[in-house]
Amino acid sequence: MQRSLPRLDTRPQFATEGMVAGVDIGGTNQTVALARLDGEVVATQRRQLRPGGAAQDVMGNVLEMIDASLAEVGHTPGRPGADKLLRVGVGFGGPVDIKNGTIVTSHHVPGWEGYPLRATLEQHLDAPTVIDNDANAAALGEAIFGAGRGHRNILYVNVGTGIGAGVILNGRLYHGQHGMAGEIGHVTVLPEGPLCPCGKRGCLEALASGRAIERRAQVAAGAEPEAAGRLRALAGGEVGQIGGRHVFRAAAEGDALALQLAEETACYLGLALGNAANILDLSIIVVGGGVGESGEVLFTPLRAALRAHLLPSIPSPEVVPAALGYDAGIAGALALALDGL
Ligand SMILES: [Zn+2]
Repeated sequence: MQRSLPRLDTRPQFATEGMVAGVDIGGTNQTVALARLDGEVVATQRRQLRPGGAAQDVMGNVLEMIDASLAEVGHTPGRPGADKLLRVGVGFGGPVDIKNGTIVTSHHVPGWEGYPLRATLEQHLDAPTVIDNDANAAALGEAIFGAGRGHRNILYVNVGTGIGAGVILNGRLYHGQHGMAGEIGHVTVLPEGPLCPCGKRGCLEALASGRAIERRAQVAAGAEPEAAGRLRALAGGEVGQIGGRHVFRAAAEGDALALQLAEETACYLGLALGNAANILDLSIIVVGGGVGESGEVLFTPLRAALRAHLLPSIPSPEVVPAALGYDAGIAGALALALDGL
């Protein structure tokens, strides 16, 4: 974690003294950080959920880490001044009901359904708490601390095992009517295409997520064993072990089959992102997640594909990799706490 995270200079700052807490709750890891209002991180802790653990174990970890972090900086509850806790931001790895401050569900850890996360933290910490899903938190993190700094109309897309996104319009997170805005992973890019975990066919996630790239690469390697020599070698000789990272590594080396797979991925992503830019007139698209770290073998054809689907009179948004990497989750949680203070 960077020790100092400068804030977007155009953002009004009303509070002048105090600090905020960020809480990042993932499937396995939980991270807590305390930061000053200028973004300087003053304490941070990370823990892993024990195998087989449930929501109450996660909450136990989170509350203990917050208490330990506050003790580390000499916080005294109720005392005004530099260590007063002004707000808590939480990024959660799953759908949340931001209106009621509750968790809808977690796809990784049992016991979260309907959990009153906001009320629990507000009661424990006596500070207003804002919760959101991790893609929205990461989008705000990139907007305030990362690749989106200085931009006001931003699409953040996380292309990892699945595909999620956060939309920032006019400098604010856009949630939509039901809190579901940004589900770009389920935009149809190939009608009647492969089945998606959501139940639809031909979704972007079913064709361009890390898991989908892996599946397409293994099918291609099975169909063209001679062309797949490099991919197979990178995967230890096993077609069934070929993963997305092997595809982009072989593509960067100039391997023809891998380049074709990278290009196809860029075409599917470019179709969805170009259509999103047609609707939203974006300034920048920030691509995070494992696939977002693939480099120019993905980004060069992605920019071309996006341009091909964009109305000619709309200027192309910048298309860049995310800047915060592993820290995106906790930076996003801090950004949620700082946003609008
Ligand atoms: Zn889907």
